Amino acid sequence: MALLNKLGEIVKSAAEKTEELTKTLGEKAEAALEIQRLNSQVNKERSKISDTHKKIGEILWAKFEAGEEIPEEFKEHCTAISEALTKIDEHKVAIAKIKATAFAGEEPKTSCPSCGAQVTLNSKFCGECGGKMPVHEPEPVEEEAAPLTETVDETKAETAEVVDTPAKAEAAETEKTETKA
Ligand SMILES: [Zn+2]
Repeated sequence: MALLNKLGEIVKSAAEKTEELTKTLGEKAEAALEIQRLNSQVNKERSKISDTHKKIGEILWAKFEAGEEIPEEFKEHCTAISEALTKIDEHKVAIAKIKATAFAGEEPKTSCPSCGAQVTLNSKFCGECGGKMPVHEPEPVEEEAAPLTETVDETKAETAEVVDTPAKAEAAETEKTETKA
């Protein structure tokens, strides 16, 4: 709070001197640019803090996953990640089953809402009319439960290896690369 009080004083004393400080248009433009530059520095530092928060979480998660002891207050959050990873695995198994039964290994398709043409699932645009395909966004979650890099080719999810525990494997891979970096 001391810093905020100090900021208040600076603003007040600057405001009292406004007349003597009146600047040319050029000087004002320069000052505006300086404010923009400083604001972007503030955002840069904030983003560093966010990244660091994420790293702290990943370190704790890695310890929890390895069965190491972590402070009690973090266990609930790690359990939530664990549950989310299990759900991801369940969903991926369900997707693989649907693909195997309903599409018999063929690429799943959906109808274009504009022209009715058959369009490959997850396509952004219709190949026939060029219309935008609807995007099914997942329900927003409060925080990112796990690194959900959708690099896994869904068409290959039918193999037993991938169906096994793809989410956990993905998470482990991400941790490895994080450690190397
Ligand atoms: Zn279309």
